[in-house]
Amino acid sequence: MTERRTKIVATIGPASEDPSTLGRLVAAGMNMARLSLAHGPLEETLERIRRVRAAAEDANANVGILADLPGPKVRAAPFPERGVYFVEGAETELVAATGARTDASDWQRIAVDLPSLVSDVQVGDRVALGDGGIQFTVEAIRGERLAARVLTGGNVRGRPGVTFPSSRFTAPTPTPEDLRLLEAVIAAGVEAVAVSFVRSAADIDAVRAAAGADPPMLVAKIETQSAVDALDEVIAAADAVMVARGDLGIRCALEDVPHYQKRIIHATVAYGRPVITATQMLESMVQSPAPTRAEVSDVANAVFDGTSALMLSGETAIGHDPANAVRTMARIATRAEREFDYLGWGLALGRQQVAETRGAPAKVRITAAISAAAWRAAADAEATAIIACTNSGATARAISRFRPTVPVLAATPSLRTARQLSVAWGITPMLVEPRQSTDDIVWFAIQAAVQHGFVKTDDVVAILAGAPDEPVPTTDVLRLVRIR
Ligand code: PGA
Ligand code: MN
Repeated sequence: MTERRTKIVATIGPASEDPSTLGRLVAAGMNMARLSLAHGPLEETLERIRRVRAAAEDANANVGILADLPGPKVRAAPFPERGVYFVEGAETELVAATGARTDASDWQRIAVDLPSLVSDVQVGDRVALGDGGIQFTVEAIRGERLAARVLTGGNVRGRPGVTFPSSRFTAPTPTPEDLRLLEAVIAAGVEAVAVSFVRSAADIDAVRAAAGADPPMLVAKIETQSAVDALDEVIAAADAVMVARGDLGIRCALEDVPHYQKRIIHATVAYGRPVITATQMLESMVQSPAPTRAEVSDVANAVFDGTSALMLSGETAIGHDPANAVRTMARIATRAEREFDYLGWGLALGRQQVAETRGAPAKVRITAAISAAAWRAAADAEATAIIACTNSGATARAISRFRPTVPVLAATPSLRTARQLSVAWGITPMLVEPRQSTDDIVWFAIQAAVQHGFVKTDDVVAILAGAPDEPVPTTDVLRLVRIR
């Protein structure tokens, strides 16, 4: 059990896919590995999944895997290895990529993965590259080419996303390619899938409908204005949420991003779902061994906002020292947690929850009431730990939202649930055997906690459990146990 409660998601890429670096990422505190399907071929992702599993097993660590679907993002063909610098005021050209492997982009000519480019784009349109730092204005259409001028310059590498005015470009998600990739990553056994460019709850529902009988945990990436506008229904449809600040910052005013971040985090936690804050958190560490002061503050402030998890993107995927980025993030988070007003947070949420679950189905009301009771009782009885006995992880997530100061152990017979909880705030998963009665579930969960050294004789624990044999198991038992 680590001291840190905020989880870390690290993106695996060329800089981190070798087994020894993966081992260092696990040792540095990576809780979940993210594999972006937007970049390389599927086979590359499948190999990375195998390697992450092997690294976690070697370290006997609980590491979840999040496969991130590309969505309808338009990308440029690869820029040269060392990158290209666009100078403000310079002229360049945009053309539709041919789809051939030899497609390439440079400073004179950007090949865009959009066959209808020339007919879709209009003179005067703004086009952005990457996370939006580099912008062009389209000045003329010359046959099959668009003449463009650099409005804001900068350096680009790899295959940056290309963003067009969203009023005319709202491609549906999930795409047929997303659904094909979904099937492949489910077959490979990933426990979580991120859905890009979600616009409404219906987009999440569509992925869930395509995901078969036992769908993975679906993470809704909030990176369009429509998802922000439909936030509550998107959160309700998903299992977790990502504040995808990169694309969000292109599609809404940049100065809206910190406020949306607070709103998304608060709404998601109140709903009892994990929320991941993502993109450019320690961006300068792609090149540099230490982050900027602004980045350190940003990571700490995401913790103060109440985020469940923090994400690293380029820092670990293409950065020069991925394990150092994870260690740095872990240090900042652990320090920020020392200043967090956990009691105030839990009290405010308790009041809000009572108001929000009024009239909800009985199961929802019972889980809400009993997890609030467990949080209170653990504090009043000065418990050493809270143990949530859970199959689906729902009980553990419900108690996690109160941000209890004591460790929360999730005793689960499901390896998949244990891995999904790797992104839930403050939860330490613990694998246990399935049991036939509530008494056995409670007794053996305590035994396991003692065996792992999480609790000892004379400690008091608050333990939540339910009856295993009900058709829809509901957590309806709270016990306070003094261990002897
Ligand atoms: P991406 O998503 O890295 O897959 O684009 C995160 C973001 O947009 O912030
Ligand atoms: Mn994105």
